[in-house]
Order: sequence, then structure tokens, then C-alpha cells
Amino acid sequence: MKILVVEDEPKTGDYLKQGLSEAGFVVDLARDGLDGLHFALSEAYDLTILDVSLPGMDGWDVLKMLRGAGKQLPVLFLTARDTVDERVKGLELGADDYLVKPFAFAELLARIRTLLRRGSVVKEAEVLQVADLALDLLRRRVTRAGERIDLTAKEFMLLELLMRRQGEVLPRSLIASQVWDMNFDSDTNVIEVAVRRLRAKIDDRFTPKLIRTVRGMGYVIEAGD
Ligand code: CA
Repeated sequence: MKILVVEDEPKTGDYLKQGLSEAGFVVDLARDGLDGLHFALSEAYDLTILDVSLPGMDGWDVLKMLRGAGKQLPVLFLTARDTVDERVKGLELGADDYLVKPFAFAELLARIRTLLRRGSVVKEAEVLQVADLALDLLRRRVTRAGERIDLTAKEFMLLELLMRRQGEVLPRSLIASQVWDMNFDSDTNVIEVAVRRLRAKIDDRFTPKLIRTVRGMGYVIEAGD
């Protein structure tokens, strides 16, 4: 997860950058509004933390430009200003949240996580689709030709992985590490067995067949010829 911090106060900026990095985020720090805008327009961030009073261009204008350019990333305003009017203005301009300085870092982190969760639900496709096979990520449900198919948790993960990367041949080693969290070196045919069971459920009674074995390489799911 990549976060852009736009903050001109050196101490606060460094503190944010360090704290967020330690929390596992990749952080870019811009020291004024114009730099912030430039960063936000030229790189893909998952979230921006915007100070309001900034040299060059204030946080409100940065936000206006971002939304004007069609950037929908979550924006959290961070500011010393604390009047109702200013909060309302920020939110009306399309900020997603507002935190007043001084703030507790734990609260900032909690709000960031909430925004990222909300953002990822919107951004991510909720249903993966290959031909008439559909995997609903939110409801954890799989259907083929409209018919409900029950999968075990591992089968679901395996199918989700294949469908997220449909058309791409996935090596067994990758499937092993992503679905079973193990090395392929472990002497096991667990993947073959799981793929066979998955096929029995999603392919056997249907045409066309969607899961293909690419000998010596791995498995791929695709809508077919
Ligand atoms: Ca400032």
C-alpha cells in the first residue's frame, strides 16, 4: 500500500513518514502543494494525507485539482484548523476524512485502514468472471451457468487465484505458495488433487471446459477457443 503525505512542517512530515513506514506502508513525502499535486497525478497511490495550509497551493486546491483530474483515491485532511466550516468545506470538496492536529498516531492509522478498506471494496471487481463461471468475492459464492457450486475454502482460493489471473499459466510452485503457503519442493500431489476436485465441480458437467493443464508448466483458466 502506497501513501502520499503532503505536509510542509518538517517535523510532522518526517514523523508521519517514519511512523507510516514502520506500519508497513510505502510513503512518499511532498513538502508543498504543487509537489504534492505533481506526485499524486504522476504516481499511483492508495491514499493521500493532505495538510490544509501549504505553501504554493493549499490542500483544498490540491484536492480540487485531483478530483478534477478524475483521481478518486481516498484523501484524509490533516490540519490544525478546527472550525466546523472548514471541516464542512473539506468534506464538500471530496475529502474522505478529516483529522485535527495534534492527533494520536494510533487514531490516524485506524482511519487510514478504514479508508483503505472502503477504497478497496469500491476499486476491486466484486465478481470475477470467466465465460459463464462467476466468483463473487463479497458473498464468497461461485456459480456456473447460474447454478450454485459449493467449494471448500482451499478450492475457493485456488479458483480465485486462477480467475484473477485468467489466461495466464500459473506454475504449480506459485499455486503452492499462494494457496497452501508451502514450498513446491514438499513431496506432495495436493495441487493435482485439488485441481481435479475443482474441475469435477466447475467443468465436468459443463462446456466449454475452462481449466486447462499445460504440461510441464501449470494450470490456466480461460474462456477457451
Ligand atoms: Ca502546514
